[in-house]
Amino acid sequence: MIAPILPTYNRAPLTFTSGEGSWLVEADGRRFLDLGAGIAVNALGHAHPALVAALTGQANALWHVSNLYNIPAQQRLAEMLVDKTFADTVFFTNSGTESCELAVKMARKYWYDKGQPDRTGIITYSNSFHGRSSAGIAAAGSEKMTKGFGPLLPGFIHLEFGDLTATEAAMDDSVAAVLIEPIQGEGGIRSVSDDDLRALRALCDTHGVLLILDEVQCGMGRTGKLFAHEWAGVTPNIMMVAKGIGGGFPLGAVLATEDAASGMTAGTHGSTYGGNPLACAVGAKVMEIIADEVFLAEVGRKAGLFRQKLEGLVASHPEVFEEVRGAGLMLGLKCKVANSDLVKAGFDQGLLTVPAADNVIRLLPALNIPDADIGAAVDKLDAAARQF
Ligand SMILES: *Cc1c(COP(=O)(O)O)cnc(C)c1O
Repeated sequence: MIAPILPTYNRAPLTFTSGEGSWLVEADGRRFLDLGAGIAVNALGHAHPALVAALTGQANALWHVSNLYNIPAQQRLAEMLVDKTFADTVFFTNSGTESCELAVKMARKYWYDKGQPDRTGIITYSNSFHGRSSAGIAAAGSEKMTKGFGPLLPGFIHLEFGDLTATEAAMDDSVAAVLIEPIQGEGGIRSVSDDDLRALRALCDTHGVLLILDEVQCGMGRTGKLFAHEWAGVTPNIMMVAKGIGGGFPLGAVLATEDAASGMTAGTHGSTYGGNPLACAVGAKVMEIIADEVFLAEVGRKAGLFRQKLEGLVASHPEVFEEVRGAGLMLGLKCKVANSDLVKAGFDQGLLTVPAADNVIRLLPALNIPDADIGAAVDKLDAAARQF
């Protein structure tokens, strides 16, 4: 008999009843150090007092009005995002995959309105992840996500991740946009180098193609800058955001330049929940905390500390680990043993990590993880590695 919950998830046999900072607690009091943060969502840890206050304050005033009316918290968050990024305008969604839907629609509508309605192609890359909607799975293109769900949304051109030569060869007047994650999350913490991101930007400029960055996982301070592309000193035309921006409350966004967004006039897109007062009250507080330069510098310092300890861990367990990957607090350990076994060995030590493709375990702690918890995490990883 089918379970009451549609059986699409492989869940670990763990049930948490409360959380505090970087820790999750089971009903019997057993504590787990959380290096998954709800898959890079709880960017400020669990039960952050300022976020709890923002949410309960809004909950006591007003939950939902729809986008038929003005939403002050949405306005405030949009202004903060515009102020701190390349973007001139923001649309709020509830998830990463909804941000993908709009990014694709926006790019196609852009060219339609410029008198090039056949310019609909979107170049995407192997091992990418853009969510589970019809556009998201068609964009990623992997058999694992698409098999049985045809006919797929057409127009995606799938290339090898990081292959700039193939990208240049694919650029013709049917291409609307390039869509890429600056650091692949689900794909195994694989980064586009700063040089390659600059080269990709230049290629897009040469061919008049829009650049869409998926910063759903790598954005919102995760790399030590507000958005990962800032390290390369280039900007996209359109950017997808979600995960960390809500700090645990469902919220996503599409950021765009005025030009890239020019096709999206009144009535061309919408969302009942998108930019809801509760989500935006939390999001505005998250943004206020994370966009602060002092906070971001701290993320960079913690990341340096964590990385140094992880390099030591890899060196002392050469039979278990191959290398440390990633940037900032978006780190991966490429394993030599099965990554799923290592995740399980972590559970036994009271440690939560997240598996990814390419036999990697992801370490995506809260951005404000205390230094002592970084030390404890590496001790637990060391104890887990000793089990092999
Ligand atoms: C998680 C993720 C998505 C999808 O986000 P959902 O909120 O699960 O729809 C899209 N892109 C990237 C890079 C992600 O990590």
